[in-house]
Amino acid sequence: MAIYNPKSLKAEEFINDEEIQATLAYAEANKNNVELIDRILAKARPQKTATGCVCAGLTHREASVLLACEIPEKIEEIYKIAEEIKLAFYGNRIVMFAPLYLSNYCVNGCLYCPYHLKNKHIARKKLTQEEVRAEVIALQDMGHKRLAIEAGEDPKNNPIEYILECINTIYSVHHKNGDIRRVNVNIAATTVENYRKLKEAGIGTYILFQETYHKKSYLELHPTGPKHDYDYHTEAMDRAMEGGIDDVGLGVLFGLELYKYEFAGLIMHAEHLEAVHGVGPHTISVPRVKRADDIDPDTFDGGIDDDTFAKITACIRLAVPYTGMIISTRESEAVRAKLLRLGISQISGGSRTSVGGYTEEERPHDTEQFDVSDQRTLDEVVRWLMKTDHIPSFCTACYREGRTGDRFMSLCKSGQILNCCHPNALMTLTEYLEDYASEETKKIGYAMIERELERIPKEKVREIARQHIADIRNSNRRDFRF
Ligand code: SAM
Repeated sequence: MAIYNPKSLKAEEFINDEEIQATLAYAEANKNNVELIDRILAKARPQKTATGCVCAGLTHREASVLLACEIPEKIEEIYKIAEEIKLAFYGNRIVMFAPLYLSNYCVNGCLYCPYHLKNKHIARKKLTQEEVRAEVIALQDMGHKRLAIEAGEDPKNNPIEYILECINTIYSVHHKNGDIRRVNVNIAATTVENYRKLKEAGIGTYILFQETYHKKSYLELHPTGPKHDYDYHTEAMDRAMEGGIDDVGLGVLFGLELYKYEFAGLIMHAEHLEAVHGVGPHTISVPRVKRADDIDPDTFDGGIDDDTFAKITACIRLAVPYTGMIISTRESEAVRAKLLRLGISQISGGSRTSVGGYTEEERPHDTEQFDVSDQRTLDEVVRWLMKTDHIPSFCTACYREGRTGDRFMSLCKSGQILNCCHPNALMTLTEYLEDYASEETKKIGYAMIERELERIPKEKVREIARQHIADIRNSNRRDFRF
């Protein structure tokens, strides 16, 4: 039997079923243990330092106790601390991105995904480089600077060379004042050699959702195709890091399995990356399984309501305070509004989940991966964010300035975020307002920028940011960054 070891490179040892079962039992036994819960909450709270603020984070056992806790006042406290952590490290900035679907050809048999091989009635499509270019122009014309590319797994139709060619094309398109400055990649688990090639192509984060950490369920949910190999999939982030990618994004597809199991597995995975590579995940995504062509989400065991979803998000925020958290348009405006406060730092906007969807006038459904709940335009999402006192940020500075992996974490801890990320958010928001926003959005945006400039602590930085913002407004100069 496999023995739990966070430093092991073997999936069954770092995501260890026995340890998860023991964690769930411990959490259940202590879910009303107020003394322990208070100790855990005290550990999670941000602590002021001479230069900024630090957070201790929580172990998977501690975080699982909080997730199991059913005492209303304690749950309120979890939410309050999640908000404090969010504000301490991410402020009111929300980073914007859009997914770009390259190909829905897939050889896997994933039971929850409409792209599965046996789905014979879904239209199959793979973008040509000309079509990639057209999609990128459409995305740039919306105002996007950061994309997450998505593709099914198909070594013949979507080999790594195709993905690399697409990345190259994306970075090469400069339409009017637009450019895509960061391409994150969400493709199937692959080899160290291929991860190295992705790194060389200049990708930002490599994202791979675990789907479920429960091995038996995983094997049933992925009955055929290369994705069936649980160990290969679970060990992918270690290969990505070996290939030189130090920003990796984890995620669970909530709804497939019991959420407490998934939560413990997710935090253990983060602990494993920290233990082996000295840096935790750059992001964690919290997708929920959605209705799609040939897919009925009610057939799975683990459906969760919106309150449980909020609690999971807040507990992740407490456990891994320096990790960015992403929510997509799978979720409605109301759910997104609630989760933004509890720790989400990145959202997609104006998304289309079909291959070639951005160049169509009407939202196409024939090649779509899942139903999009939040169907607002990017301009509407940006305006809504600002009206709810969030700064939409189109910043891509960190990775372009080499602040990846643990260097990003150091920035977080140094207290320099208000002198760095904050002005970067305001400058990239100005680009958006100037080049793409509606008049109404512009008005709200410029008023917000004036207010928010005052929050930059260093006078020198504030002055430079103000000057750059004036340059953006009065000329075609773009892409300033700290
Ligand atoms: N094909 C790649 C893989 O296997 O990892 C990644 C790309 S896939 C387009 C991105 C993610 O969409 C999957 O990892 C899965 O979690 C999610 N997904 C699939 N079907 C879904 C559904 N019905 N509802 C919501 N999300 C879904």
